[in-house]
Amino acid sequence: MASRYSMWSVFRNGLSGQQHWDRVWRDPEPASHYDVVIVGGGLHGLATAYYLKKMHGIRRVAVLEKGWIGGGNAGRNTTIVRSNYRLPGNREFYEHSLSLWENLSHELNYNVMFSQRGHVTVLHSPGAIDTFSRTYNTLRMTGSDGEFWDLDTLKKNIPHLNYAADARFPIYGATVQPRAGTARHDAVVWGYARAADALGVDLIQNCEVTGITRDADRIASLQTSRGVITGDKTAFAVAGHTSQLWHMAGLGGLPIESHKLQAFVSEPLKPLLDHVVAFSVGGGLFYVSQSDKGGMVFGGDLDWYKSYAQRGNLPMVQNVAECATALLPCLGRVRLLRHWAGVMDMSMDGSFFICKTPLSNLYLNAGWNYGGFKASPASGWYFADLIANDRPHDVIRHHDLQRFARGYIIDERGAGADPKLHG
Ligand SMILES: Cc1cc2nc3c(=O)[nH]c(=O)nc-3n(C[C@H](O)[C@H](O)[C@H](O)COP(=O)(O)OP(=O)(O)OC[C@H]3O[C@@H](n4cnc5c(N)ncnc54)[C@H](O)[C@@H]3O)c2cc1C
Repeated sequence: MASRYSMWSVFRNGLSGQQHWDRVWRDPEPASHYDVVIVGGGLHGLATAYYLKKMHGIRRVAVLEKGWIGGGNAGRNTTIVRSNYRLPGNREFYEHSLSLWENLSHELNYNVMFSQRGHVTVLHSPGAIDTFSRTYNTLRMTGSDGEFWDLDTLKKNIPHLNYAADARFPIYGATVQPRAGTARHDAVVWGYARAADALGVDLIQNCEVTGITRDADRIASLQTSRGVITGDKTAFAVAGHTSQLWHMAGLGGLPIESHKLQAFVSEPLKPLLDHVVAFSVGGGLFYVSQSDKGGMVFGGDLDWYKSYAQRGNLPMVQNVAECATALLPCLGRVRLLRHWAGVMDMSMDGSFFICKTPLSNLYLNAGWNYGGFKASPASGWYFADLIANDRPHDVIRHHDLQRFARGYIIDERGAGADPKLHG
């Protein structure tokens, strides 16, 4: 088990040539049986395992990951953390998540590099000001933080935006969440993995679930690339691959589609942008921040077709480049260093599922769309609570699969029942 990181451990290991650091987590052989088996070693699976041990004292917990932990969306996102959600359920959930982020480095004894640099949504019409003011007033009235910046304040804080009077998208002002920001995605994965391992969770990498055996309305066993594993309870946290696992369990269809989202990083630049900036108008969507190494980290919309490939296509590169230069013309001559894609679990209303399933010992965590990074601490917290107590917490009671039949859709964007339109 890894010892705690501290000033003293840095000093001591410095004196001995950095040769005696502990392994960050163990590499155990899978046992044949666990109390809870979590499928998916992304952030949601790891956080769930951590809180199952920490908050609920569940003894034997395993996370099964088909590749390496954090090799999915957890390690592919643009790392934006915010809680500017409006609808009941989402609002409390994401605010709880943000409050967990604020103490996460201490909680995990691992620097997740959470940087509360503020999230700025640039507004391009009087109508947008009305709509976003309503959301941000809701945030303020329910205990979160939100501000409106007029044009002068915005120009002072972010001088490089395109403020030209004849700009394609003239800027009217911005809404801001000061406590929002970014974190280092790999560090969050490693932090949760290390902390879960230290509590005794078995993290089993290169262990793909390839088949599921049922005993009536229960999961009897999981066939994996490392043998058969059974669990009293099984939990799916596989993001874009949820439909595949659901199918293996013989459960038919899900209100989820798998779509691709790309991320981009430029060559390193001198300090240019102190905030996360988001821009959404018409068919364009663009969000950007600057990493500690100086690269501009940015992204846009989905690739508009369903796929399990972890790579994107060129039309979206063009679309994102157009948005980038419309908002920040000074990026026009900056060179792109890397881009990649992840597989998103897009739900019909853009909101997530943390819920029980038709099988009595199977639990579902899915439908994160392209917003699940910020959600991961609360997702693990509420999913662990559900698995341990076998009933949903009040905050997530509507985030189940039956909400469509009940007519209770949770549609932040008001975009309608099309998974492509939700972010
Ligand atoms: C380009 C991009 C940008 C994004 N930007 C943001 C952002 O700025 N802010 C934000 O909040 N969110 C963002 N997201 C979304 C966020 O990354 C995801 O919603 C979140 O990471 C999903 O949860 P996860 O970490 O558990 O998923 P994943 O990391 O994908 O974990 C699922 C794991 O399950 C494993 N798995 C799948 N099938 C099996 C199997 N059969 N057996 C065993 N293991 C299996 C996979 O290998 C994978 O590691 C972005 C995503 C992408 C791709």
